[in-house]
Amino acid sequence: MRPVPCPRTPAAGTLACMAQTSVLVAEDDDAIAQLVRHHLEAEGFQVALAADGNMALRTARRNVDLAILDVGLPGLDGFEIARILRREGHDLPIVLLTARGDEVDRVVGLELGADDYVTKPFSVRELVARVRGILRRSKQDQPRRHLLVRLGRMEIDECARAVRVDGIDAGLKPREFALLLELAANPGVALSRERLLDRVWGMDFAGDERTVDVHIRRLRQKLQERWELPAFVQTVHSYGYKFIRG
Ligand code: CA
Repeated sequence: MRPVPCPRTPAAGTLACMAQTSVLVAEDDDAIAQLVRHHLEAEGFQVALAADGNMALRTARRNVDLAILDVGLPGLDGFEIARILRREGHDLPIVLLTARGDEVDRVVGLELGADDYVTKPFSVRELVARVRGILRRSKQDQPRRHLLVRLGRMEIDECARAVRVDGIDAGLKPREFALLLELAANPGVALSRERLLDRVWGMDFAGDERTVDVHIRRLRQKLQERWELPAFVQTVHSYGYKFIRG
C-alpha cells in the first residue's frame, strides 16, 4: 500500500491526512471488474467500480486518481468518456481497455488523451504494473497536493472533500466545495468569474457567470453567516472573487 501523504500547508497546524490512491475501474464484464479490483486492492489502491458509461463519467469527475475505462461500455463508451473528461479539463491518467486490438483504436485512444492502452485478453498483473508506472510518472510530473487550510475555526480539507467549522462538517455540496477549494488554493489572488467557471464547472458549462455569484452567496450563508465567521471571500468589483487568508 502506498498512501499519498497530504503535505501540510503552512497554516495547517499539526494535522496531516493520508489519502489512498483511488482508481476507477469502468468495466461491464463483472468477472473482469472483480478480478481487476481484487488485484488493485491487494496493492493498496482504493477501487471504485462502474458498470456503465454514465456512472463511470460521474465517478471519474469526482476525486479519483486514475481511470481504467473499458472501451466497450453500455451507455457512453470508453472513448467518449475520455473525450469528455479531457474537454472538461480533467487531467487524471486514463488507461483504455479493449477487446479490439487494432492500431486505429490505439491511435484514437491516445489522441483522445488516454495515457495507456491495454488489449484484452490481458494479464491483470501487467495492467496493475502499468497503473503503478503511470501514477509514478504523473506524480513526478505534478506532485499531488491535498490542500488542508485552516482559517480560524474553519478547516478546508481536500482529502475528505469537506469543510469543517469547529470540527463539524458544514455540509457543502460538491460544487460549493470545489469553488471554495479553487479560491483557497490561490489565497490573496483575484480569480475571475470566467476562470472559476472553467475550473469548477468545466469549459462546456452552458450557464452564465451569475452561477458563480449564486454559489458564493451560498458559501457565505453556509459558512460565514451560519457560523458567524469573519469574511473569507472578498468580491473583486467587476471581476470575480478572492480568498482572504487571515
Ligand atoms: Ca465491455
